[in-house]
Amino acid sequence: MRFPAGVAVDYYRDLLKIVRALWEDLRRDWPAIEALLKEAKEQREDVRQDAPPEELDSLLSVLRLRGGKLAEQADAIAAKVDRRISDTTARQLADAIRKALGAATPEVAAESIGISQAVKGGVTSKGKSVLNLIERSFMRQNVALIKSIPEDFHDRVQNIVWQGIRTGSNPRDVRKQLQEAFGVERNRAKLIARDQTNKLFGQLNHVRQEEAGITTFIWWTVGDNRVRDSHEKLHGKVFTWKDGANGLFPGDDYQCRCIAEPNPAELRGEEPEEGEVAS
Ligand SMILES: [Zn+2]
Repeated sequence: MRFPAGVAVDYYRDLLKIVRALWEDLRRDWPAIEALLKEAKEQREDVRQDAPPEELDSLLSVLRLRGGKLAEQADAIAAKVDRRISDTTARQLADAIRKALGAATPEVAAESIGISQAVKGGVTSKGKSVLNLIERSFMRQNVALIKSIPEDFHDRVQNIVWQGIRTGSNPRDVRKQLQEAFGVERNRAKLIARDQTNKLFGQLNHVRQEEAGITTFIWWTVGDNRVRDSHEKLHGKVFTWKDGANGLFPGDDYQCRCIAEPNPAELRGEEPEEGEVAS
């Protein structure tokens, strides 16, 4: 099994489209913002306003309105990610099981009804309801996260411009800060996409493996230099789905890209040994 990097990248691209559209909207309004800043800069410090000018408020409320329109895609974007990850976990699990049983006799494969069900991608009705619960919670959380992108960006814009007006800043400096805010939001979109993708992948994988009657998994990191030291120590070790690594499972930690592979030894009917290093 492997981290669904492609889904995370596509999710990020969808979010990036929103962030870029927000930036384009703001750029269109820049002449008006610049005029407000220039006007404030020319004023003497003691007559500068102590509340945001009305022009800024109305400008921001139009931007926020358009931002809200962009966020209307949130449901469609989150649903697409959900569907792709759900398909990916089912397919990857079936492949992993088939691969592990490749050398085994058909009797071994048939020995566990659960496992042969999993090969066909099937789950029990109880499993289905658990999967539904996880996916519904993913949808809710991700729709909220996507909607928070324009809100968060416009909060930053409001603060930056108002601060610029209040202190009589150079418009060029304010523009630079706005550009930085765009960068911050872009980065936030990337973190959301990666974190949420693997969290859902980990959770669905967990349910599907337990549904298949698999009790142990091997913890695999992606093996690059961004892997946490604490996860590096778990790499290649066997854990039970009941306990994980002291209650921790791949994908649980923020930005974790680790994967739980069904333990091939268990699938082949060999006695699973917790904590042993997989070969
Ligand atoms: Zn990890």
